[in-house]
Amino acid sequence: MWPYFFILIILVCVVLFQKKSASDYEKEILEALDEGLAIVDHKRRCIFFNSKFFRLIKAHQIKKNQPFDSIATTFPQLLQECVDLLQKAQAGSEELLDAFFLKKEEYEMAISIRVKKLSNQHIAVVLHDKDPEKREFALGKEFIANASHELRTPITIIKGFIETLRDLPEVSDAMLEDIFEKILRNCKRMEEMVKNLLILTDLDHLFSLQKKPVDFLLLADNLKHNLLQLYPHAAVEILCLEKEAIAAIDKSLVELALLNLMHNAVKYSKESPKIEIEVQKKDQELMVSISDQGIGIPKENLPFIFERFYSVDKTLSRKLGGAGLGLSIVKKILDKHQGTIFVEENPYGGTIFRLHFPL
Ligand code: ADP
Repeated sequence: MWPYFFILIILVCVVLFQKKSASDYEKEILEALDEGLAIVDHKRRCIFFNSKFFRLIKAHQIKKNQPFDSIATTFPQLLQECVDLLQKAQAGSEELLDAFFLKKEEYEMAISIRVKKLSNQHIAVVLHDKDPEKREFALGKEFIANASHELRTPITIIKGFIETLRDLPEVSDAMLEDIFEKILRNCKRMEEMVKNLLILTDLDHLFSLQKKPVDFLLLADNLKHNLLQLYPHAAVEILCLEKEAIAAIDKSLVELALLNLMHNAVKYSKESPKIEIEVQKKDQELMVSISDQGIGIPKENLPFIFERFYSVDKTLSRKLGGAGLGLSIVKKILDKHQGTIFVEENPYGGTIFRLHFPL
C-alpha cells in the first residue's frame, strides 16, 4: 500500500507544480490521503501541507511559506527528525526513510518519515502513522496466544486420560465410562471453540451482508422452538405490541447472534431458565432484548463482557463448554449491521442484553 500511495503523491505533486496552483480537485485528493504530506521549497519554507500532516506533526499552527524548522509543535523531536532528513535530502540524497518511535508513559506512537526530492526546488515530506497497523499486529498476536492457550487445556486433559488408559492394567467399566465421557466433553469443547474461531475469522473478512426484510416476531418464534427442542425445561416468552416488526438484516447472522444469547441465558441460569424476548419498534430503530433471571454478571465485569476469550468465571465457563467467544461474535454481528448492543443487570435478577438495529 505504502509505495503506491507514495507514487500517487509524487504524481499529484508533479501535476500540482506544473500548473503552479492546485485545483480544488487535486487538493481534495491530497486531503484524502492517509498520509501526512508537506512540500517545502529550496529555502525549506512550507509551501503546502495537508491536514493529516498538521495532525501527525501535532502542530499548533502552520502558515503558508513559514520556515519548516520553525513549526510550533507538541512533538519537537518528530519535527527535528524531519528537519534532519530534509537537510540530508538537500545535500543530495534522493529519497530518505526513517522510522520515528516516540514512547510516552501512557501510549506509544509510531510514525515513519519519508523525504523525497521532487526537483531542485521542491522536497516532499511524508508522514505515515504506523500505529493502527502495530495495534492490529499486537491484537493478532494476542488472539493467537489466547486461542492456543484455550485449545491446549482440553488437549492436555485428553492426553492425560489416554495415557491413564494405556498405563493402567485393569480399568473398571464405570471408570472407563467416566473417562470416555470426559474425553468426549473435551473434544466437544475443542470442536465448539474451533467453530467459533472460524466464525470470527469469517466475520472479520465479511465485506457485505445478505440483507433482506425479516419479521423479528417470526424470527423470535422460530428461535424459541429451536431452543425448546434443546432445552425443553426452559420457559421462553415473546413480548411485542406490534403486529409485525420488519427490518432488513442478514437473517442467518442475526439468528446466530440471538441464539448465542438465548443459549447463554439457559447456560447461566439455575434449574428452570426463564427467558423473555422483547421486540420493539422505536423511531428509526428496531430493538430486541433478551432477559434472563439467571446468575447475572457482576457490575465490574460488564465493560469487558464482549471481549474475545473473556469469561467472568473461567472454571464455570469451561465446565459449560465455553471459551468466551460467543458474545464477541454477537457484538461483531451487530457491528456489521451498524447496530449496537448493551448489557445491563436485570432488576429481577439475571441479565438483559439489548440489541438495536437501524431501520
Ligand atoms: P462463553 O462461551 O464462555 O459463555 P460468551 O462470550 O458467550 O462465552 O460469554 C462470556 C462470559 O459472559 C461468560 O463466560 C459468562 O461469564 C458471561 N455471560 C454471558 N452471558 C451471560 C448470562 N446470560 N448470564 C450470566 N453470565 C453471562
